[in-house]
Amino acid sequence: EKFRELGLEGEILKGVADLGFETPSPVQEKVIPVILGEENDLVALAQTGTGKTAAFGLPLLQKLNVAENEVQVLILSPTRELCVQIGNDLKNYSKYRPDIRITCVYGGTDIRRQIRELERGVHVLVATPGRLCDLIKREAVNIEAVKAVVLDEADEMLNMGFKEDLNFILDATPRERNTYLFSATMPREVERIARNYLHSPQEIAV
Ligand code: AMP
Repeated sequence: EKFRELGLEGEILKGVADLGFETPSPVQEKVIPVILGEENDLVALAQTGTGKTAAFGLPLLQKLNVAENEVQVLILSPTRELCVQIGNDLKNYSKYRPDIRITCVYGGTDIRRQIRELERGVHVLVATPGRLCDLIKREAVNIEAVKAVVLDEADEMLNMGFKEDLNFILDATPRERNTYLFSATMPREVERIARNYLHSPQEIAV
């Protein structure tokens, strides 16, 4: 089994099998071992449709320690639609791990409902940068125990004007976190974020 050879196992591997994924996509082959290894940050030049959600989602779900009732994985994404999509994908991957709590927060909708949901406890938070900043400033969420941050579609987040929000969020996470940046293009502002916030990242392109 190819996914097993990349290091996936147990309930997560079972979840992948149920989805009907047989062969890892190129981005999955490159990214899954890096994230499972925990040594390296990562910059991945990858378009949507390449399977990047599973590339970061599967290993992060597998590594999570549910006994720690804190936000451990933070995934930042430019739009509400993408957040919901990522959240649904992660829930599918972790079908056999119902103990993992996954929540999405995004703007344009009632913040009080999101605050109540956060109060129940979250392991994996999928967020748009603006709404997450708002929630941090209201002390509705704590990201000081985050172990891994994914910047998904980093170029889009910067295009949408989230630069200050991204800086604020990344500065609020621990220095020892791992950071994984995915982007379809590498303009100067994306390179700048990578330079400022990633530690000698491995670079891959698919
Ligand atoms: P993404 O790039 O993460 O938006 O994924 C694109 C689509 O490919 C999604 O519908 C996934 O369900 C599907 N997909 C991801 N990885 C695989 C795989 N290894 N085999 C088959 N389909 C996949």
